Amino acid sequence: MVSRRYAGRLIALATQHGKQQVLARPLRHGLGLTLRHAASVNTDRFGSFAGDQVRSADAPTTCRLKAEAALEALDLDLGIASEGSFGPHPAVPFLAMGQEWLVLVDRRDGFVITQPMLCSHTNFGSCTAADPESCASWLRQVAFPSHALMVRPHAGERADPLPWLAKGIHGAAELAQWMAVAVDLSPLGLAWLETDMRAHCNPTRMASIRRLAFRLVRRVGATCPACEAPGWGLVSTRAGLPCRACGLATELVQLEEFGCVACSHRRLLPRRDGLTAADPGHCPYCNP
Ligand SMILES: [Zn+2]
Ligand SMILES: [Zn+2]
Repeated sequence: MVSRRYAGRLIALATQHGKQQVLARPLRHGLGLTLRHAASVNTDRFGSFAGDQVRSADAPTTCRLKAEAALEALDLDLGIASEGSFGPHPAVPFLAMGQEWLVLVDRRDGFVITQPMLCSHTNFGSCTAADPESCASWLRQVAFPSHALMVRPHAGERADPLPWLAKGIHGAAELAQWMAVAVDLSPLGLAWLETDMRAHCNPTRMASIRRLAFRLVRRVGATCPACEAPGWGLVSTRAGLPCRACGLATELVQLEEFGCVACSHRRLLPRRDGLTAADPGHCPYCNP
């Protein structure tokens, strides 16, 4: 039983952004774990959204390193960390997309369990403007002031970005003040505004991390059919769902591959949503 594997144990979390608020309950109710905040770990040294500190590894690797730093800081054998990345939607122009990861590191039994989640519901975005009035609709769109902003002078499209003047801006007066400073410092007379994606500045992101925590708990509770290790779950997908009209392979997912974190056991299964054919709208032959 997995719940017995984790019940009563302590798990370390490194966060400077209040993520213990949304992670403690799912871990306690789902797995019987007690969360300990590794407050001494500076998570910014692993890279930040604002780009002041460039990430040296990909997001899931960064996430694992943070979890390991947390458990080492508290001298525990279990650690957890969260990481996110945001950018333009790969398929839909002008739409933003987020990806979140949670990684649980179990040093006692040697497991690393990674749970990703795609988030199409995000306020991620940026905008250039000379004053708050001229970007009022963008401010509404990114849910300011409940969601915080960062401000820097706009350096121009071809120049390297200038440093941030302020982050975590939650108030209209504060925003106007920093935009005025940015306009003065910008060669184009424009401020660059961007959503502050740190969890404590972004309730939408905090809610995503909470949803992901429940998914991680479910995954930790799923055991490998071959070796009974925890963390059995989706590891990759295979495209090629056939077109309903002509049978040609499309870019849509046809098979889901489930795998184990401890052994090489893998299982290829049809899509869980039961879809066996693609709409001809997705077909390169029927709808080129
Ligand atoms: Zn077709
Ligand atoms: Zn296994």
